[in-house]
Amino acid sequence: MLSRKLLKTFHIKTYGCQANIADSIKLSEELANIGLFEVDSLEEADLFVINSCSVRQKSEDKVYGWGRILGKYTVKPYIVLTGCIVGSARGKRRRFSFKELERKTPWVNMYVEPNDLLSVPDRLLEKGFTTKESYENRKNYNTNEIGEKSFCKLSDFSVKKENIENALVNISYGCDNFCTYCVVPYARGEEVSRSQGDILAEVKEAVKKGAKKITLCGQNVNSWGLNREAKFKLRTGGVLPPELGDKLPFTKLLHDVNQIEGIKEIEFISSNPFDFTQDLIDALKLEKISNYLHIAVQSGNNDILQKMNRRHTVEEFKSLINKIRKVRPDMEFGTDVIVGFPSETRDQFMDTADLFRKVKFSVAFISMYSQRKGTAAALLKDDVSRKEKRWRHNYLLSLWREIKNEK
Ligand code: SF4
Repeated sequence: MLSRKLLKTFHIKTYGCQANIADSIKLSEELANIGLFEVDSLEEADLFVINSCSVRQKSEDKVYGWGRILGKYTVKPYIVLTGCIVGSARGKRRRFSFKELERKTPWVNMYVEPNDLLSVPDRLLEKGFTTKESYENRKNYNTNEIGEKSFCKLSDFSVKKENIENALVNISYGCDNFCTYCVVPYARGEEVSRSQGDILAEVKEAVKKGAKKITLCGQNVNSWGLNREAKFKLRTGGVLPPELGDKLPFTKLLHDVNQIEGIKEIEFISSNPFDFTQDLIDALKLEKISNYLHIAVQSGNNDILQKMNRRHTVEEFKSLINKIRKVRPDMEFGTDVIVGFPSETRDQFMDTADLFRKVKFSVAFISMYSQRKGTAAALLKDDVSRKEKRWRHNYLLSLWREIKNEK
């Protein structure tokens, strides 16, 4: 039972990827604009936002676990649940029913789909949880007059300093790739690119607020601005449609961001190996592009890659790394890997270990395969035992540490 009427403070708990972190930072700014203050602990919060992740069952279980924690509170905050769990139950490509989600989270007051996250302040106003005055002030603030006339001065923002200096800017949402193990195309829906104007305006505003580093985020940043046909052409024939000229729209975007004064470093995440064109590889030489690049490989074995519906081979991945190293010898690579995918043998797993020895990743997110309801891989028998998955995980992690220490 909600016992606070006018909300004054908020706390956001974020799970998952950079896209979720970027969304949470944006929401915290919006909430600050309507006069709410971010607090570090849930105890002090009138409003609690959970920005959820669905990638692994464990991530979902952490969210469901909040019911037990919140049950101990006599005065509960107003609870908003957003992120991929809500997308998985309410989006066009839902994996489970909204009724099921409601049954598991009866303690939630408001469900918000991830693509609709910034509607939260409006919805709070509609429900009378924020004042008309603060809402009006927000509208003034949104005229972009940051400074004396604005309602919230920059120093009032509850956004953390490191988040101001390293601004995460989402450039696209969703995914159409349907890798067989992944829930993102269901949870986040169709891949949609933000307009160039919106992105550049957000980057410039971030710089005004003090950003030195800009991280462009999305599930597939390289395919930003491409329609389905163009993506298909690129992924099946490695070429762009003639009307796009000889450059990926994302390459052009990088050039534009690189020209914005005040930025010292540009990073982007996530990239898939199958969306790299030579013009993008060449753009890595731009002066502000970071020397860290995250490219998800997922497995070092071609049969497993095929079962994962990845659109690249191990050979193509290695060749891409070599091409990038030619233009940027200082480039450090990060990757994502899944061990214990259905039917993966020890030998096939060792191919992934071999890839680690060759590429020498600086960063590696190693996950044990977890079956996700509604995905294509859930139809395959999850036949690698948990013990074996754990062994492969530990083996790869130790190998990665060893290689990193040798570097
Ligand atoms: S590219 Fe594959 S792994 Fe990445 S979000 Fe899309 S479906 Fe998931």
